[in-house]
Amino acid sequence: MNGADEFVFVALGGLGEIGMNAALYGFGPPRRRKWIMVDCGMTFAGPDLPGVELIYPDVSFIDKIQSDLLALIVTHAHEDHVGAIAALWPRLRCPLYATPFAAGLLGARRLSEPDAPKVQINIVRQGNRIELGPFGIEFIAVAHSIPESCALAIRTQAGLAIHSGDWKHDDAPGVGLPTDEARFRELGEQGVLAFVCDSTNIIREGESPSEGDVAQVLRELITNAPARVVITAFASNVARLRAVALAAMAAGREVVIAGRAMARTIEVARENGYLDGIADFCALERYPMLSRDCVVVLATGSQGESRAAMGRIAEGEHPVISLASGDRVIFSSRTIPGNEREVNRVINGLILQGVEVITDRTHLVHCSGHPRRGEVERFYGWLRPQVAIPAHGEPLHLYEHARVARAIGVPNVVPARNGDMVLLGPGAPGMIDEIASGRVVQDGTVIVPLGDTVFQERRRLAYAGVVSIAVALTSQGELAGDPDVLTSGLPARMRDGAATDKLIDEAIFATLDSLPRQRRRDFDGVSIAIERAVRSSLQAAWGKRPQVHVLIVLV
Ligand SMILES: [Zn+2]
Ligand SMILES: [Zn+2]
Repeated sequence: MNGADEFVFVALGGLGEIGMNAALYGFGPPRRRKWIMVDCGMTFAGPDLPGVELIYPDVSFIDKIQSDLLALIVTHAHEDHVGAIAALWPRLRCPLYATPFAAGLLGARRLSEPDAPKVQINIVRQGNRIELGPFGIEFIAVAHSIPESCALAIRTQAGLAIHSGDWKHDDAPGVGLPTDEARFRELGEQGVLAFVCDSTNIIREGESPSEGDVAQVLRELITNAPARVVITAFASNVARLRAVALAAMAAGREVVIAGRAMARTIEVARENGYLDGIADFCALERYPMLSRDCVVVLATGSQGESRAAMGRIAEGEHPVISLASGDRVIFSSRTIPGNEREVNRVINGLILQGVEVITDRTHLVHCSGHPRRGEVERFYGWLRPQVAIPAHGEPLHLYEHARVARAIGVPNVVPARNGDMVLLGPGAPGMIDEIASGRVVQDGTVIVPLGDTVFQERRRLAYAGVVSIAVALTSQGELAGDPDVLTSGLPARMRDGAATDKLIDEAIFATLDSLPRQRRRDFDGVSIAIERAVRSSLQAAWGKRPQVHVLIVLV
């Protein structure tokens, strides 16, 4: 017996973290299910992974179901939803669906890099419906901090699931359509089985301010600025860029773009009509010719990235843009937790130059693209789902979201984590299986599992450095010359003032002297003895045990 058709949901990422979103919906009997994947994002590595910037979801499960994977559907073009597509493409190899703006940005970013895979993108628009095997999929407009964000209505014989994607409630989103309340209410009337919804801002009460309110504040700050204005924002936030451009036009100021990511967004936004009515921006090279009250600079680097435009301006190292006392810098962004130190360094650099710095601490110069609790509650009111799965959040956010959903009266709240396979229907919903999930990292050009010992080793090297020792021995076990010692990352002198090299030499000679000749013919034994002796003598003199590599050469 093959069993009856089941409608299941499983996340490979995003349930337990903000970032690395990747979800799967399956339909059919166990072992013969058809699948669609929703988003394939990345997240950023912290200092615990030296040499690594990007983390992707482990897609081992996809390898098992690849021939039944009907499509990868992109809800919107933020990196936490699309950033792993290019790197993992060899494992996915399925039709990809995205809106024109998302496809354009995806093309302009990773997929345009020299060794990027050729990915055929099928274009869909907000409001479109497509059929994929047992799934009917509708792309429904939601407001978010990037154009053309979609929630997905995923229809099967077992019922309808709504995947919210990233969204907020915003009647004045600046560009694009507001969240399509009417359509969600209609679907709610027809009956919604499951709702998988954004939890990012669930711990914040009430409702988010609108992009329109932010645009108004930016307009005032640009209009009444005495000298230059520099605004840094998330590069993909087209509504914000448009608001700044409109305010600059109204104030008779030219707009200069500093930063490649922003230039790319602007190109794709222009192609898609989101900057219609806005004059071409001024070339960066003309900046020095513009008088101080006639310019607004839009710069990348709102997260304090030292190599981005804002970071270089703050250090006085930007090749074209320099500021002076009386100029105004606006952080039209939120500092992502973990980036506070970098952002503060940039702000301090600007303050030291006499620049006025405005952030969302004192002015409404930023609003989030994610819904607060009140907005989430409203969405539940439209849909009245049978099953709720909180998504797009850290454990705290998922936990709070589950509490909210229960309080609203959703009959089944399933607190799933990455890898938990959830039966949506038919029958009683809940966890039915667990699949392989986890994280892999982009290490140079290679993708390796997160648990790889290489990172532990790199941390140790960063902490205490490395000592390399070459010892030449004859077949009789006699020393055939002075050992060679190289150190990296060690202080030249120890606590008592002794030279480090000398201390290491002494440990080597003492070890060799202490070994009887026949034991010196066992090269592995000699190597281990020297390593131990050097490590413990450095521990005694320095308080740290570096990596010690001993190479015995037979001469
Ligand atoms: Zn997201
Ligand atoms: Zn997003």
